Amino acid sequence: MSQNSLWAIPLGGLGEFGMNMLALRYADEIVVIDAGLMFPEQELLGVDIVIPDITYLRQNRHMVRAILLTHAHEDHIGAIPYILGDLNVPVYGTQFTLALVRKKLEEHALLDKADLREVAPGQTSSIGPFQVEYLHVTHSTIDCVALAVRTPLGVIIHTGDFKIDPTPVDGRPFDLHAFARYGAQGVLALFSDSTNVERPGFTPSERAVVVRMEELFRAAPRRVVVSCFSSSVHRIQQVIDVARATGRKIGFIGRSMVDNMEIAHSLGKLRIPDGSVVRPQDIRSFDPNKIVILASGTQAEPMSALSRISVDNHRMLTIAEGDTVILSARIIPGNEKAIFRMIDHLFRRRVLVYYEGGRSAPIHVSGHASQEEQKILLQLVRPKYFVPIHGEFRQLFQHAALAEQVGAVGGEILLLDSGHPLEFTADGGAYKREPVPAGRVLVDSGSLEEIEEVVIRDRQHLSADGVVVPIIAIDKNTGMMGTAPEIVTRGFLPSDDGQEIVARAREVIIKTIEGSSAEEKTDWGVIKEKIRVDLKRYLNKQTAKRPLILPVILEV
Ligand SMILES: [Zn+2]
Ligand SMILES: [Zn+2]
Repeated sequence: MSQNSLWAIPLGGLGEFGMNMLALRYADEIVVIDAGLMFPEQELLGVDIVIPDITYLRQNRHMVRAILLTHAHEDHIGAIPYILGDLNVPVYGTQFTLALVRKKLEEHALLDKADLREVAPGQTSSIGPFQVEYLHVTHSTIDCVALAVRTPLGVIIHTGDFKIDPTPVDGRPFDLHAFARYGAQGVLALFSDSTNVERPGFTPSERAVVVRMEELFRAAPRRVVVSCFSSSVHRIQQVIDVARATGRKIGFIGRSMVDNMEIAHSLGKLRIPDGSVVRPQDIRSFDPNKIVILASGTQAEPMSALSRISVDNHRMLTIAEGDTVILSARIIPGNEKAIFRMIDHLFRRRVLVYYEGGRSAPIHVSGHASQEEQKILLQLVRPKYFVPIHGEFRQLFQHAALAEQVGAVGGEILLLDSGHPLEFTADGGAYKREPVPAGRVLVDSGSLEEIEEVVIRDRQHLSADGVVVPIIAIDKNTGMMGTAPEIVTRGFLPSDDGQEIVARAREVIIKTIEGSSAEEKTDWGVIKEKIRVDLKRYLNKQTAKRPLILPVILEV
């Protein structure tokens, strides 16, 4: 490896959705941009999260100088606790981004050891041979930056996630000037967000949802429940503002919603008028015509607030005929089944549900740039090399085609996959090089105290702790158990004390099922998840092991 060449090494997020991570290396110094997670697909049942394989960074651990974060979304910061446990380097990010990181590290008991360095747009950090400037960009959450990294071979611009929102809710616009300034000086390579490349035109401003939201709030005959991502601070602000304008108070339900609201509020990033918040314990009895409830769970995550509300299993809220539920988020591909099942539960209760693809305009706009914004960015930056990032291959490919059409790239447009590095040489060339180790690591985030053991490959996980397969026969119509549950285990327990534990695990399952509502029992996604969570807790307590638990439901 030449000592005076620059390497860009994508370790996640290229050719896949989520788990974004890119390493930049010059000589013997590495900075890492973002450390995201990916939520597991259905075939990875039993796994909590997926993070990038950092073997490459581990092999070169003495060279890693810092992790730079673009914004607070899970697909950019979610892997931080798992990586810092192993590779404790300084983490640079904006105020809100670091506030969410801090909370994660606290949960993982890693905060004391962590070195978090707060930065703001316009500032520059010197890290080894890299000078990093933070450029403000607009997106669906707040405090988002792109990075301009000055290296001995030229400037690399990494957009993070962005859209160009001319009227952002917090009044802080996309810093077009900074991008233009770099464009005028010359940019070696641009790495840019490809998520929405399939959408023509411009992504509407975040403010565009407010008119429709106000209409629905005014028309609502009873309670209004709005579900959005808990990191969507702009959206939460608009719900608060519209609630106030329509004479309603506001309640918050769901752990991530409450936590993020409190963090954003304490940083002064969320304006909540005094006296406008209904305490959680008062939500249930509050005048339904006078309240809006913000709840987490837009993707119908099995244990989330909205999922529970939809099957009448939430202690703070019972939804009723005439209530309005607004899903103010996109339906992430892969989650359709679960989300539509949840929407069905709500319609069964004669709730008015508004969602993407429903009978009326959705109350959501994307946080990612559409084609016209991507073209503007390319025109401003006019890089020598262009590398599409953040997307599945079809999106990277189409972003490359779009750049070709714009004609603003002086040199080459390069399509990379995760693990496939690019070498920029001192004579101005850029070459694809042999792949480095990269891929997905499956994590069971169960026991937080054993952080060293949390980052494990699925094979190690299986060989150490085994598999537990509870088999439950349920009557689809009545939700009754056909026979007592069976439990099959492999590599989990020695047979002598195993019998006893398995017998009691059966009782745990029976209790879980008996404690569930009729609708939960016939919603197999929900019931499987409940069984998995309860069994995990029980087995972990009894055996200190964390086997992979794969509930199977037989329809009888
Ligand atoms: Zn994002
Ligand atoms: Zn993202």
